[in-house]
Amino acid sequence: MSRPYDWLIVGAGFTGAVVAERLARGLNQRVLLIDRRDHVGGNAHDRRDDAGRLIHPYGPHVFHTNSARIFDYLSRFTAWRPYEHRVQAMIDGQAVPLPFNLQSLRLLFPPATAARLSRRLIAAFGADARPTIHDLRSAADDADLRFVADYVFDKVFAAYSAKQWGVAVDDLDPSVLGRVPVVIGQDDRYFTDRFQAMPRDGYAALFARMLDHPNIHVSLNTPMSQVQPKAWTRMVYCGPLDDYFESAAGALPYRSVRFEHRAVDVKDGLPVGTVNHPQAPGFTRITDFRHLTGERGPTTATVIEYPTAHRPGENEPYYPVLSEASHALADQYRAMARSLEGQVWFAGRLADFRYYNMDQAVGRALSLVDKALAPAISRMAA
Ligand code: FAD
Ligand code: UDP
Repeated sequence: MSRPYDWLIVGAGFTGAVVAERLARGLNQRVLLIDRRDHVGGNAHDRRDDAGRLIHPYGPHVFHTNSARIFDYLSRFTAWRPYEHRVQAMIDGQAVPLPFNLQSLRLLFPPATAARLSRRLIAAFGADARPTIHDLRSAADDADLRFVADYVFDKVFAAYSAKQWGVAVDDLDPSVLGRVPVVIGQDDRYFTDRFQAMPRDGYAALFARMLDHPNIHVSLNTPMSQVQPKAWTRMVYCGPLDDYFESAAGALPYRSVRFEHRAVDVKDGLPVGTVNHPQAPGFTRITDFRHLTGERGPTTATVIEYPTAHRPGENEPYYPVLSEASHALADQYRAMARSLEGQVWFAGRLADFRYYNMDQAVGRALSLVDKALAPAISRMAA
């Protein structure tokens, strides 16, 4: 039998790919990187549609980070196209900036009312502050502030979140709605990070360069169950945390999405990258890829997102559903995972059961290698 790989990496998304790259290129380890899908890149994968337009099959992926370390690391594998994502929300038929800001107020209310509400918000939070909707609701100690808090919660967050998560909004961890602040100013960017850019040639090209190394063997259409235990020495697992333990303590909750891709005439495209539809039945948002990719042509590719229940084996577990109960269950699995450390490490959005953005997945992978895997390799060699 041939010599086993030093490492099996399960899952070729950002987390698994970065771990594979660092182990192979940085630490001269032999790596088998598998994914049950037919491509690398996980949910960040992109490809061209029939007419050659670049699309993100698993929903819009906009890169942003405050970390120079993460941006510099990824810059080894891609050049960038600067891109600041802008989003609008359709509220009672009116498109307004999202995050909800003072311009949103002006578009939705008569001038005198908008001016009064803006003054109250600035007095309470300070100009250009970015409170969460929870901050706004708990600070609502006079009639005007209470009115704005209830209005934004009802029109922007409540119905969208009910569709997106399929659970009562009050059961969700506050960090979920806290991702999208209310802006007491004019800033209409969706993200405020220092680095905001798209990989110039797309994500698939970035992954191809990252994984192009003689010590990395990629095996696609390969679920973990198909790999012989004798084929590897140690493992990094990036799949769903509960799957690894065959849901012994109960199933962790995930949310899936059905993506409806369409091509439309450019004149029917969107004015900004994404338009959210909190009040529409069934779907949450529509994205027009030409803004993200910078591609121009007579038509453009769009995607509509319909959140759905996660049915294991039938659709993908795109989002961990974070609540007090799911944290408690995930903690049980994390304790089981820790008992395997030394042989198996768990990392990534699914295996950590955390709502990571792409940069956080990359950061998690880099620190796993530096803090745990490199020391384990040194110990073995000693
Ligand atoms: P994943 O990308 O989920 O990769 C895990 C891989 O493991 C998958 O490919 C899966 O097939 C594989 N796998 C699982 N189990 C097994 C098994 N048993 N055997 C073999 N393979 C297995 N982030 C941003 O920063 N900006 C955005 O704009 C953004 N938009 C998003 C939009 C949507 C709709 C979604 C769902 C996510 C978005 N994200 C965004 C988050 C981003 O997708 C994640 O942060 C990132 O993909 C996490 O990488 P990962 O490697 O941890 O997980
Ligand atoms: N959200 C909302 N209305 C919106 C936008 C966001 O209620 O118009 C809430 C919703 O619960 C969503 C969460 O804020 O799931 C995080 O939004 P984000 O845009 O970060 O979601 P993602 O891009 O990860 O799907």
